[in-house]
Amino acid sequence: GLVRALARRKASFGAASVLFYDRPIRMARAEGAWMYDAEDRPYLDLYNNVPCIGHSHPAVAEAIARQAGVLNTNTRYLVDIVHDYAERLLSEFPGDLSNVVLTCTGSESNDLALRMAEAMTGRRGVIVTEFAYHGNSASTTAISPGSRPDRSVPDHIRTVPPPEAFRSGDADPGATFAGAVRAAIADLEAAGHGISCLVVDTIFSSDGVYCAPPGLIAAAVAAVQDAGGLFIADEVQPGFGRTGTGMWGYKMHAVRPDMVTMGKPMGNGFPMSGIVARPDIVDRFSAQGSGYFNTFGGNPLAAAAGLAVLETIHGEGLMENARAMGEHLRAGLRGLQGEGSIIGDVRGAGLFIGVEISVPGTREPDAAAASALINGLRSRGVMVGATGPYGNVLKIRPPLCFTASDAAFFLSATEEVAGSLGK
Ligand code: PMP
Repeated sequence: GLVRALARRKASFGAASVLFYDRPIRMARAEGAWMYDAEDRPYLDLYNNVPCIGHSHPAVAEAIARQAGVLNTNTRYLVDIVHDYAERLLSEFPGDLSNVVLTCTGSESNDLALRMAEAMTGRRGVIVTEFAYHGNSASTTAISPGSRPDRSVPDHIRTVPPPEAFRSGDADPGATFAGAVRAAIADLEAAGHGISCLVVDTIFSSDGVYCAPPGLIAAAVAAVQDAGGLFIADEVQPGFGRTGTGMWGYKMHAVRPDMVTMGKPMGNGFPMSGIVARPDIVDRFSAQGSGYFNTFGGNPLAAAAGLAVLETIHGEGLMENARAMGEHLRAGLRGLQGEGSIIGDVRGAGLFIGVEISVPGTREPDAAAASALINGLRSRGVMVGATGPYGNVLKIRPPLCFTASDAAFFLSATEEVAGSLGK
């Protein structure tokens, strides 16, 4: 059973194996918002944001199987379904974002976006948040200080604090954020790097789930664009309807990105990602080199999966469900706050929710209580993860097909476990 599976994992993958939970789950199958372990124990999935339209959705399974039986190949041919997908994806964007480059992972899309920004601006300086995560390639690791204990970055990168209002009590976090971005631009210019781009998640994810109030990042983005830099919206986590404010998280902020990177939910688990960009950026980048080729990026199988995802998000009203269920969940979680509660703050948009776990009666992060809550929920069949610099912010991102009865199951388990951990 579990012991043997763990031993096999360790023998093959050694130290390069990162798992969820100290005592990992041996997972066997999944459907909708539920996953089932090898003993067929059910777990409500609020952790895994890849299967956005629901685990094992038949529309995606059938589309992949159908296309796999007809044609799959490298991306050097004219294939109608690939063009269908590109046009379908671009129809989700304003007219000036009219080119797409298809890749395979979020890291690859951010890596390419950095190269395009450098080609476009002739500058190298990049601004990211202090605890950002944007990928695992060489260039994206450099802009992911959150994955290093000392949060260090190379010389041409500057970090700024995320726009945080709960602990700081900042009445205007967007203005504070813009001030920090302006100072970083000046610093990059003084150091001779200049400003190439600002890269942020449109819901600050690894920094602790911040997105309010509406327009939060607008002044910072304007400062970058006024200085001739580009704004790269990392939609790898919030994209594809999760925020309930439309297809993309950037819509909450009244900004116009120069490039949008996406991944995770794009193929509902089929590995695919992409960049949508202004055509002048793609032109400039392509003119500088021999052109971009990606063997698997946007192959016919990926196109089939991606089309099924977009059709299902619209066909099943999943954006609307994300908005309604998100409001319902946040209201339910706020109902668990109050004297003696470890739930310090509830925030987010749609089905991307952060729950700050604090020492009762204070705004002090309590990572131990967050960990106890996560493990307590697990033993009640609910999977939730944590994020943020202190590891005390529950990150709630269920599939967008989440129902009111799923919410009731989660809220009653949370009430029980959080109640037992409060004062
Ligand atoms: N950007 C963000 C915001 C992410 O959360 C991630 C993955 N956690 C990535 C980029 C990298 O995506 P991938 O793991 O597919 O390379």
